[in-house]
Amino acid sequence: MTKESSFLGNIDFTGYSGYVTACFVRMEKIMIIKRGLLSFLFLFLSAGSAWAEGGGKLILCSTFPITQTTRNVTAGTSSLQVDSLISPQLGCPHDYALTPKDMRKLAKADVLIINGLGMEEFLGAPLARANPGLVIIDSSRGISGLLQDQVDDKSDEADDEHRGGFNPHLFASPVMTGLLTKNIAEALEGLFPEDAELFRANYRSYGERMNRLAADFTALGRRLGNNRIITQHGVFDYLARDLGLEVVGLVQVHPGSEPSAAGILSLIRIAREQKVGAIFTEPQYSDGVGRTIANETGVPSATLDPAASGPENAPLEYYETVMRRNLEVMANILGTRE
Ligand SMILES: [Zn+2]
Repeated sequence: MTKESSFLGNIDFTGYSGYVTACFVRMEKIMIIKRGLLSFLFLFLSAGSAWAEGGGKLILCSTFPITQTTRNVTAGTSSLQVDSLISPQLGCPHDYALTPKDMRKLAKADVLIINGLGMEEFLGAPLARANPGLVIIDSSRGISGLLQDQVDDKSDEADDEHRGGFNPHLFASPVMTGLLTKNIAEALEGLFPEDAELFRANYRSYGERMNRLAADFTALGRRLGNNRIITQHGVFDYLARDLGLEVVGLVQVHPGSEPSAAGILSLIRIAREQKVGAIFTEPQYSDGVGRTIANETGVPSATLDPAASGPENAPLEYYETVMRRNLEVMANILGTRE
């Protein structure tokens, strides 16, 4: 019974079983999908993993960031295949609807690892019928220090579903990605104890890399000349906290929905009054509004990539590569005190 040293303190790997049980989400608790169209699709599906017939297990991950984290945790296993449910190029699946192809993938999977915190509203009751034996791991379950979503309660776009929840974009912060990695490693160890040593070694290695990345962001935060920013949507709230940045405005309060004319004017006013240091757009969304605000106010704009999307078969170090590029962009555009 040993304690493994961890990049975020000492983690007792011996207390897994209870934790892992708590980590699994019951199907019924997933928000019931409102799109009735999906129901009939399951007539053409059959549960059970074709890949598993060879003795292996198929792990599906709901998003690109969770896929990359899980691939790092499971690197070197021969008995587990990790795949992304939705296209790696999609980005945040805020308004996503499942396709027949997704359903076929889900029917063949043994495990589904989700982002959680409301990111997967597209999963619903039909999933339980497609694959009743599917084990679901909520990678964000039990993580403390969550932030509330920034939602304008006066906005028509802020419907009840999106008001008052926790911000689900843990993945854009190396600190929080370290915690997600721990959750995923622990849950997979509970399911596949034969690979426990490998998961622990991979977790220690990837966790330490996340720790170094987080330390570099924190160090940059102390040197920045201006800490007030406007972002495209709430994807950088956790990263901003890591650096001591203040997100004073969002171009898209509801992800994917462009602001009204009044909303743009409000952002222009905020940018001027609060002497904002930068407007950060994202490669996953149009940068048109962000550039308009930049042109009107003279505040510089630049693209930060939250690594919400990426290429097919991305290298295992893809997240770090993207985040270190973000580090340089932030230093250049916000300026540093030396
Ligand atoms: Zn998002």
